[in-house]
Amino acid sequence: MTEKNIIQKPRGTYDILPEEQKYWQFILKKFTACCENFNFSKIDTPLFEYSNLFSKAMGPTSDVVSKEMFYLSRKDEQGSEFALRPEGTAAVVRSFIENGMQNLPTPVKLYYFGPMFRYSRPQAGRFRQFYQIGFEIFGEDDPNCDVLTIIISANIFKDLKISKNLILEINSLGCQNCQKKFKKNLVSYLNQYKEYLCPDCLVRLPVNPLRILDCKEQRCGSLVKSAPQIIDNLCPDCKSHFQKVLEGLDEANLAYDLNPLLVRGLDYYNRTVFEFRDINDVSRQSSLGGGGRYDDLVETYGGPKTAAIGFAAGVERIIDKLKEYQISIPEVKKLDVFVIQIGEKAKKKVITLVKNLVDAGFSTNCVLGKDSLKAQLKTADKFKAAISLILGQREALDNTVILRNMIDGSQRTVKMINLEKILKKELKKIKKEGNE
Ligand code: AMP
Repeated sequence: MTEKNIIQKPRGTYDILPEEQKYWQFILKKFTACCENFNFSKIDTPLFEYSNLFSKAMGPTSDVVSKEMFYLSRKDEQGSEFALRPEGTAAVVRSFIENGMQNLPTPVKLYYFGPMFRYSRPQAGRFRQFYQIGFEIFGEDDPNCDVLTIIISANIFKDLKISKNLILEINSLGCQNCQKKFKKNLVSYLNQYKEYLCPDCLVRLPVNPLRILDCKEQRCGSLVKSAPQIIDNLCPDCKSHFQKVLEGLDEANLAYDLNPLLVRGLDYYNRTVFEFRDINDVSRQSSLGGGGRYDDLVETYGGPKTAAIGFAAGVERIIDKLKEYQISIPEVKKLDVFVIQIGEKAKKKVITLVKNLVDAGFSTNCVLGKDSLKAQLKTADKFKAAISLILGQREALDNTVILRNMIDGSQRTVKMINLEKILKKELKKIKKEGNE
């Protein structure tokens, strides 16, 4: 093993630097507001779980489980293996069962935000640690719940102002019986063209043939174009369910593309699956988010039969879109007041003044290692302070302070006792002038 430079982040990870934080706060704020308005409750689950939680849900042959799981070298006391979570749904379902949420009034609606981990080859829009926002709805098998799920997902992108080039793709994977029938038809079709499949799909053919449908290799892509379609293999119930979903989307005026090749790669999905893609993006990373039904998963884990549906989107890809569309994002950091001290007496008073200003709700800063007015004013400017308060020897004795409006440069002496009121007024004025 080679010793890595310690000043080097692991491949496929990144730091969220201070100047990037505004994007994260913006997304989290909009996403949270949307979920709360649709009456979802927040849930946080651990960053790692027993690894079999994921393999049971997603299937041992899914790419996420077979290739991309981050296993931990430390096991539990009984020797059971842990893995970092590659997605949110499995853990939310585990928590739903473990905490008896099936006894809550339905629908149970939960949302989450947090880092996920997949050991895939890092490239643009694909990281080894990435963040997802997502939500789950338990206890509703009605096709209109699928419509609602898609509407909420679309709403999130709309609230984030990035929906202009997004297209909604939709498909139905049917129930287990439909999938059994379809897989048989698909395999017998693909068996005729085995020699044209890519090496990965050759392995997938006997174990996970659905995944071949969304293989990005050109040769597989051309083959599956003429393959049997799952839509033609749906049982009457699944067909009617899907029909109602499409009617609901029409009713809601939500445009969609039927994509018979959309399978979403994880075993737990059944019936409706959907994805939002950028129409102009032909890369593998064009999906901003997606979801689908997983009506059997709660039962697979040993819980009661519970219909469920969910959605998740990647935060990094949303940020890329916010930047591409130059969406104006409010600055997180705004400094109301910078306190400047000149002389020993003033320096003694400055810490208490800063603390009192913070207690009164003003964001405040100061620099204690610089003594000259010029140097401190320069720093106030660099920090983009709206107001500077200058505390000199005389002011320290008089219980006054010089208030400098950093936008127009005007200055006046004010009494400490009136400071809070005057600062509020001045900041309001600055904000108003800034908006004009
Ligand atoms: P999935 O759980 O694979 O359906 O992914 C849902 C969304 O998460 C995708 O549409 C992407 O926006 C995002 N995503 C998935 N994997 C990655 C990754 N490795 N890096 C960055 N974003 C990802």
